[in-house]
Amino acid sequence: MKVIDPSFSVLDEFFVHGRLLEQIERCGRVCYKSEDRISTESARPFIKGIIKRGHESVLEMAQIVLEIEVDSELTMHKFFERIPRFCQVDKLERKQYLLSGNPRVFRDLARHHRDLKVVKAVLKRLTEFHPVLFEDLVPRFGWVPQDGIVVRVLPSEEIENLPLEQLIRHRVLLVHLIINRAVSHELVRHRVASYLQESQRYCRYGEARFGGEVVFIRPCFFKEGSDEYLLWSDAMSQAEGIYLKLLKTSSPQAARTALPNSCKTEIMVHATIEEWMHIMRLRTSKAADPSMREIMLALLPEFERRFSAIFGPIRDSLSPENCKRSQGTASALLSGT
Ligand SMILES: Cc1cc2nc3c(=O)[nH]c(=O)nc-3n(C[C@H](O)[C@H](O)[C@H](O)COP(=O)(O)OP(=O)(O)OC[C@H]3O[C@@H](n4cnc5c(N)ncnc54)[C@H](O)[C@@H]3O)c2cc1C
Repeated sequence: MKVIDPSFSVLDEFFVHGRLLEQIERCGRVCYKSEDRISTESARPFIKGIIKRGHESVLEMAQIVLEIEVDSELTMHKFFERIPRFCQVDKLERKQYLLSGNPRVFRDLARHHRDLKVVKAVLKRLTEFHPVLFEDLVPRFGWVPQDGIVVRVLPSEEIENLPLEQLIRHRVLLVHLIINRAVSHELVRHRVASYLQESQRYCRYGEARFGGEVVFIRPCFFKEGSDEYLLWSDAMSQAEGIYLKLLKTSSPQAARTALPNSCKTEIMVHATIEEWMHIMRLRTSKAADPSMREIMLALLPEFERRFSAIFGPIRDSLSPENCKRSQGTASALLSGT
């Protein structure tokens, strides 16, 4: 068995370079731990396969921000009457709006609200922008151009320069976390975010590519070498032995029933800055689970480095003792940005 510390990386580079499809593939491959299959050509076929299998949560792992100009406010009001839950809309000026969401949001718009002028105009633009994400939903005679509606996809530089209020609602932060299964279970309770997680149903840790062993996250509760730590370590070793024995006759999904909460998992979290602010406030509080707090206190300075006006006040609200801890753990846990 192997024991490691929790860690994280903030995945910025896909956003900066507008590599939407590659970002989706990178996140999707965490489930199967098949990152080694990523190549310069692999994103499109990967996404096609995902759509074919109906595994559309993978398509939540990217954000598209649009600027929409309409010739009549009524056009937009009709859209507001049915606005889906996971997209954000802000009015910029008269007859000008900012609309954002992940590709799945726009796919649902195409399925359920294709009679709306705004939806037709948006889907026409998005299908030209990234055909692989939307081409299966194009109507028989194509998306009809909508006179009086102009849709523009915002590049990352423009998103980054949005006024703070809009930035918070439309800019997304993607984080790859390596944590234990108890913490990941707490994290996925934040429903407004999107997640993809290493699958214990598919990953067979007995295989050579996993080192033939189970990886556990070092618990923050017990000092290494203490009686409690030794007891914990003994329990993990026994669980690993039983898991590997079960794998000889059973599938990973059956054998995993013997695995404990300390088991390492990898999870991609894709959420707007607004949702991350909510997560940070709840999960850096003293009331939070110390294992969750440990990783969030380390992540907070990384967010603050990028968006100091937003995350600085959250860090300031922590006690001085927490701030010290936050700085200390950041360098220890940071595995790359
Ligand atoms: C210290 C602590 C202790 C906890 N203990 C427990 C526990 O003992 N048992 C337990 O089950 N959970 C527990 N939780 C988890 C907690 O109940 C929440 O599920 C979790 O913190 C997510 O918070 P949220 O619902 O505010 O955030 P999100 O799910 O991210 O929601 C963000 C916002 O979206 C809105 N929203 C999202 N979904 C809905 C919806 N369906 N209806 C209406 N509004 C919605 C709300 O405005 C909400 O503030 C605990 C959390 C903490 C921090």
